[in-house]
Amino acid sequence: MKFRDLSAQYQALKPEMDKAMQDVVDSAAFVFGGAVTQLENELAAYTGRRHCLACANGTDALELMFKAYGIAPGDAVFVPDFTFFASAEAVSTIGGTPVFVDVDPESFNLCPKALEAAVLAVQAAGKLRPRAVLAVDLFGRPADYDALEAVCQKYGLTLFEDAAQGFSGVYKGRRAGSFGLAATTSFFPAKPLGCYGDGGAIFTDDSEMDALLRSLAMHGKGDDRYVNVRIGRNSRLDTLQAAVLLVKLRVLEEERQKISQVAAAYSQRLAGLALTPAEGGDYLSAWAQYTLRLKSAAQRDGLAAALKAKDIPSMIYYPLPLRAQQAFADIAHLQVDACPNTAQLCETVLSLPFHPYLSPGQIDEVCTAVTSYLKAEG
Ligand SMILES: *Cc1c(COP(=O)(O)O)cnc(C)c1O
Repeated sequence: MKFRDLSAQYQALKPEMDKAMQDVVDSAAFVFGGAVTQLENELAAYTGRRHCLACANGTDALELMFKAYGIAPGDAVFVPDFTFFASAEAVSTIGGTPVFVDVDPESFNLCPKALEAAVLAVQAAGKLRPRAVLAVDLFGRPADYDALEAVCQKYGLTLFEDAAQGFSGVYKGRRAGSFGLAATTSFFPAKPLGCYGDGGAIFTDDSEMDALLRSLAMHGKGDDRYVNVRIGRNSRLDTLQAAVLLVKLRVLEEERQKISQVAAAYSQRLAGLALTPAEGGDYLSAWAQYTLRLKSAAQRDGLAAALKAKDIPSMIYYPLPLRAQQAFADIAHLQVDACPNTAQLCETVLSLPFHPYLSPGQIDEVCTAVTSYLKAEG
């Protein structure tokens, strides 16, 4: 069994996918091909944003976004303590300082109350200037945008969205990628919308920001491609990846529905044995991961080992709070509040094999293995 079976998806889409890729190879327009612009237009329409810029990966998307906004040394960007490293790394690369904020243990997402406390604490400490908040749609579930937006307005902060895991999710009728001044996503193969290599995108309604992003992603070009007005970088999505994504975009909603059914089947079998992901409310999850919370680190590690013995893969997303990463040791003194929920989650979470093409037999195999371990252990 695979943790996320990308070949099953390819087999399901093979005729359209093969044709789309062959068309790009035949055209020999490997970069700047028509599929890239078409993808940008379709993704902008999909998210309801005015602009979409495709780029090389989700980390570049974050860096370009922070750079275009003007994050600079001395600026605090509030990020969840519980997320993939890149969400905070991108702040540091641009010269800002990530300030780690605790998450809600049920939603796994930035806790609005903890955010407000952290903003006040940074203001009181007086070492950094609070500027922005990066909300992450962790494991596919959209963050609580109404509450986060309210905190941002109260303190004059700018909200951004990292939708790498949330793409195809919906919050109060709005799609992931539509929140904040700008939002990013990643097309890493295992994400809800993934390509066959690396890719990313940035979404915004702000035309000036979009123009600046396009310049920064192409060596700081001016009106002319070979007249450079600032230092940028090379960050582009190639045509093959865009063609792959156009095929996958057509089935994204269908896949979201399929994976929701897998999640529902897991939760029905596992409820009561472990804490299953919260469901229901004013949102639809993109279901990037199906993550259980166990009673203790020992129980979590025992379950992972029991699954492994049966050739069932599982993953710990994420084993360390960001504030505990060695890479952030030099900004430890700039951190404000403790993040007890994150610490607890890192000890107790386990993500199960999960994708839209999981068969009823495979779902049963996973649930039987989890159930038998937890009942015997329990
Ligand atoms: C994957 C991911 C990224 C980075 O995307 P890459 O394309 O791998 O650079 C950023 N943020 C989150 C939350 C992610 O899951």
